[in-house]
Amino acid sequence: MQDKSRDRELGMDRPITRRDFLNGVALTVGGAALAGGFDHSAFAAVANADPPALTGLRGHSEAAMNVMHSIRDGSFWDTAPKPEATGERYDLVVVGGGISGLAAALLYRQQMGEQAKILILENNDDFGGHARRNEFKASNGRTILGYGGSQSLQTPSYFSPLVNKVLEDVGIDLGVFEKWYDSAWHEERGLGESVFFAKEIFGTDALVVKTETAAEWVPNSPLNDKAKRDLIELSDAPRDYLPGKSREEKFETLSQTTYADFLTGICGYDAQLIDYFQNTTEAYFGCGIDGVTALDAWANGDPGFDGMDLGDIPYKTMSPSGRLALTDPDGYIHHFPDGNASVARAFVRKLIPAAQKGSSMEELFLEPVDYSKLDQPDHQTRLRLNASVVRVKHNGPPENAQAVTVTSLEGGKLKTVEAGHLVLACWHRVIPFMTDELADQQVDALNDQVKIPLIYTNVLIRNWEAFDKLKIGGFSAPKCFWDSVEIDYPVSSENYKFADTPSDPVLLHMSKMPLTADGLAARDQATAGRYSLVDISFEDLEREIRDLLGRALKDGGFDPARDIEAITCNRWSHGYALEYMRPWDKYWPDGPLPIESSRKGWGRIAIANSDAGAYAYAHSAIDQAGRAIKELLGDKADFPAFADFPGPPRDRIGL
Ligand SMILES: Cc1cc2nc3c(=O)[nH]c(=O)nc-3n(C[C@H](O)[C@H](O)[C@H](O)COP(=O)(O)OP(=O)(O)OC[C@H]3O[C@@H](n4cnc5c(N)ncnc54)[C@H](O)[C@@H]3O)c2cc1C
Repeated sequence: MQDKSRDRELGMDRPITRRDFLNGVALTVGGAALAGGFDHSAFAAVANADPPALTGLRGHSEAAMNVMHSIRDGSFWDTAPKPEATGERYDLVVVGGGISGLAAALLYRQQMGEQAKILILENNDDFGGHARRNEFKASNGRTILGYGGSQSLQTPSYFSPLVNKVLEDVGIDLGVFEKWYDSAWHEERGLGESVFFAKEIFGTDALVVKTETAAEWVPNSPLNDKAKRDLIELSDAPRDYLPGKSREEKFETLSQTTYADFLTGICGYDAQLIDYFQNTTEAYFGCGIDGVTALDAWANGDPGFDGMDLGDIPYKTMSPSGRLALTDPDGYIHHFPDGNASVARAFVRKLIPAAQKGSSMEELFLEPVDYSKLDQPDHQTRLRLNASVVRVKHNGPPENAQAVTVTSLEGGKLKTVEAGHLVLACWHRVIPFMTDELADQQVDALNDQVKIPLIYTNVLIRNWEAFDKLKIGGFSAPKCFWDSVEIDYPVSSENYKFADTPSDPVLLHMSKMPLTADGLAARDQATAGRYSLVDISFEDLEREIRDLLGRALKDGGFDPARDIEAITCNRWSHGYALEYMRPWDKYWPDGPLPIESSRKGWGRIAIANSDAGAYAYAHSAIDQAGRAIKELLGDKADFPAFADFPGPPRDRIGL
């Protein structure tokens, strides 16, 4: 039973922009399996003229999810309408309109020529996959852009030659971000870091601003006395916690011990430190400190390693992202105002110029996409939204078939097209539901890629005066429903300006990883976490947003009922590609890696997507597109080298 007066205080009844919320509910109910089988007509989403402007519950749509789930559960085909042949024939069909699918389409066209006929089928109402744009109109009339999923291009210094070429071909000049990203924004405004200790976890609500040394700020926290002493020692004067061991022996121990066990078992610190640090590794590794090794926590910047003489070169068992973090030569600045959605837009503009005007980098996010132009019969490349692929089958034995028949559910009807080549740039785990042409061993390998669930939320607030008053740019919220709140990245171009003075509206970015945080392996935590999302409604999410902001920013005068103008929650139930990590994946890095057998194409079909790289990055999505096109075209494909092993190039990081 909800507390109605608390809800009123929080502003749950205020008329903010949450238009799409109603659609979301309708889809949930309509898309569910009926008693007599799956209701195919429920997957009849009406094309939207401007999907990025929809607010409320976004991310993966219920409708798209329900289609694949009904195939998994066996209720789809019993009541399926008879497939209708469209008569359309393409040189290449791509399943999945994320970065990988879009890159595959571009690479194929570059190799086969402008006349190649290409169709991209995407089951959501927007393209880009995780690279999703959220757009808002603030009450002062300004348009404010945000990222609903994939944020930034990570560590361009490690991009493969192919990724660099592809980005250049679509008009992305990485040097421009040096000008656009205002690295001094926080410092110039005196905004620091802070932690919100919630009373449910730590006994009392307290927002504590961090200062240079833990000895200065930790005493203000509600941690118990031993935990305070321990945190100060760990942060300000860490010991050698494995004295007498060689560096190699230390590395071995640290790669078999989670950071949680390191803190309590090896360092002997208070268990409250586990609560305090629990979420610190989630955003980066997709798992909390109960599932991430101490070795990777070291790479992530978690404290406790400065006194251990570990050097600065990755150890072989460090995860791919750990290797990256420890050696990262770049600033985290390669960010468009709408995140990597502009990267997706760059591909679309190149492939279907009629859909978006302009040629500059800035126009990628300033010019609207004309969604009505994405799927036009007179264009060589077409991008079809709201089209869920349910079956792919060679026309005859895969080894000598001349085409593949692709069946998709669109507008409640099953339709087929013919493809000379097919790239599956969707997730590994959906592939076995689309085909009966794979051996069990490959199906098992594909199923190893369990996606990590996440929710990325944008909250438009009418000004950031509370942050200014508290002198913070955001806060972490250990073990709360939302694990962090940050003012959006400060990126301005010539014609798009980020917030400047405290009275300006701004987006807050809030994130959640629904993991079990109980020491299970990352795959099991991700599976359990994804199921938990089913029970969380937008109303629950909104209440948690208002409650956290209201409590944490109280002393800054923030009033959630008054100050929140719009909310978009991007629910990525199938989020990050799973990365191979110790202590769970004992085969890492020696192999064989499951991706080696899972991503093998067959007949006229190849597999792309960042799952195929076991590496949740845009550049991996592009590398895997290159690998897939190379598989299809063989020697005919002539492009620079791509990366096929997860992580930064080994020769660049001393491995
Ligand atoms: C919240 C979040 C934040 C991230 N942040 C970053 C970041 O900052 N930097 C970075 O480099 N990477 C980031 N990533 C990783 C991101 O996954 C990759 O960068 C990249 O966008 C993956 O692209 P993809 O094409 O491989 O997969 P996806 O983006 O998942 O695209 C696959 C598409 O296939 C569609 N599909 C699935 N099944 C079907 C079907 N049956 N029929 C039709 N279509 C189907 C899906 O709906 C999806 O749109 C982030 C990921 C998430 C979830």
